[in-house]
Amino acid sequence: MLNECETLMLDMDGTVLDLAYDNYVWKELVPEHYAEAKGISVDLARSRLYAKYRAIQGDIQWYCLDHWSERLGLDVLELHRGVNHRIDYLPGAKRFLQALHEHDVRVLLVTNSHPDTLALKDEVTGLADYFDAIYTSHQFGYAKERQEFWHALQEEEGFGKGSTLFVDDNRTVLKSADAYGLEMLVEISQPDTSEPVRETSDYTGVMGVADLLDT
Ligand SMILES: [Mg+2]
Repeated sequence: MLNECETLMLDMDGTVLDLAYDNYVWKELVPEHYAEAKGISVDLARSRLYAKYRAIQGDIQWYCLDHWSERLGLDVLELHRGVNHRIDYLPGAKRFLQALHEHDVRVLLVTNSHPDTLALKDEVTGLADYFDAIYTSHQFGYAKERQEFWHALQEEEGFGKGSTLFVDDNRTVLKSADAYGLEMLVEISQPDTSEPVRETSDYTGVMGVADLLDT
């Protein structure tokens, strides 16, 4: 597939970088600090937070650090920063990005990440160097789950729907890209190395981006 595409769009968390970091922050660290701030147990904090997470999942707010910092009364960016040693590439992802130089393809990072976490992750990994352009949904005001995002990205990039390969670990996002008309879609089946491999869906699945070099 890699040889058939003119544009390669890669998601960041769970596609290039290990989602274990984000899951640790949101499922462990934030609940611990929230519990302490509220004087409640971590279990109770976790169940309250999960309800808040679920209510706006897929929404641009869900990906917005400022929103959570304000809503929870915690400096969520600072919490991220404190454990930045946990930020890492998924297995084979760095090698894959380096190998892309040999392919005649435009490489884009297309992420729902907040610009502050994107900057933090670039600070640690240097991933921005491997991309021709970087787009975060925050610049458009719509998450990738929304059709508005794809229309806005199209205006900026003018990509071909039939000549773009899009890789993501989020099925709702893949469905959204599919609905927009992108023809080559690939799902990452192990976005978090601390969790088991996920079952495959309607989309072509690979364990990690490195597998794209062999297809
Ligand atoms: Mg992702």
